[in-house]
Amino acid sequence: MSKRTMIHRLRPSVLRTRGAVVAAGMGAVMVVGAGAGVASADAGTAVKPLAANAASAVAAQAEAQASAAAKAAAAKAAAKKKAAAKKASWVKPVAKYTLTASFAQGGSMWASKHSGQDFAVPVGTPVKAAHAGTVVKAGPNGGGDGPAYGNAVVIKHANGKYSQYAHLSKINVKIGSKVKTGQTIAKSGNTGNSSGPHLHFEIRTTPNYGSALNPANFLRSVGVTI
Ligand SMILES: [Zn+2]
Repeated sequence: MSKRTMIHRLRPSVLRTRGAVVAAGMGAVMVVGAGAGVASADAGTAVKPLAANAASAVAAQAEAQASAAAKAAAAKAAAKKKAAAKKASWVKPVAKYTLTASFAQGGSMWASKHSGQDFAVPVGTPVKAAHAGTVVKAGPNGGGDGPAYGNAVVIKHANGKYSQYAHLSKINVKIGSKVKTGQTIAKSGNTGNSSGPHLHFEIRTTPNYGSALNPANFLRSVGVTI
């Protein structure tokens, strides 16, 4: 208590503001303490030394309650902020990987330029939804985009972007599935036109092949560095 009192004495304006808010807001909780406080304060007009003691005791109690309430409010606000940030955030589609072919890289593997980012991972690695959304493609033949992709999933996100996951060995979701950020949607594999076990990952502006953006740049724009 003494430590708290000292801290508050150093910042009287903050204390006064907090005290006022808590006194106004804590109604029922304050009844016992407040009753005693009011009685003491009235008595204080007649008996000065007692009033001083009582007043400081009441003040200390109010400070303690104000401090606890302020702490609780701050914790609640922090938790809410954290939850909001978590909800809005994007994640990497695989946790541990080696980056191999990058976006727009040329090579004999692709009809034109490479349309995504490759993450070399062992077959069976959990593949996670980079962000919450709704599955719009899931299945062999690239989910309809062509046999080069093997088993693939495409997820539609609220920001109008689509993420695509290809060469999968196993798919855990269906068209229409609602997925959460970071939810395991598949196991990585080596299906389709693949030079070895890896996840091929795209960010698209439509559900379809041909609308891919640079996924590394996109992820960086939402705070994820691969
Ligand atoms: Zn690829």
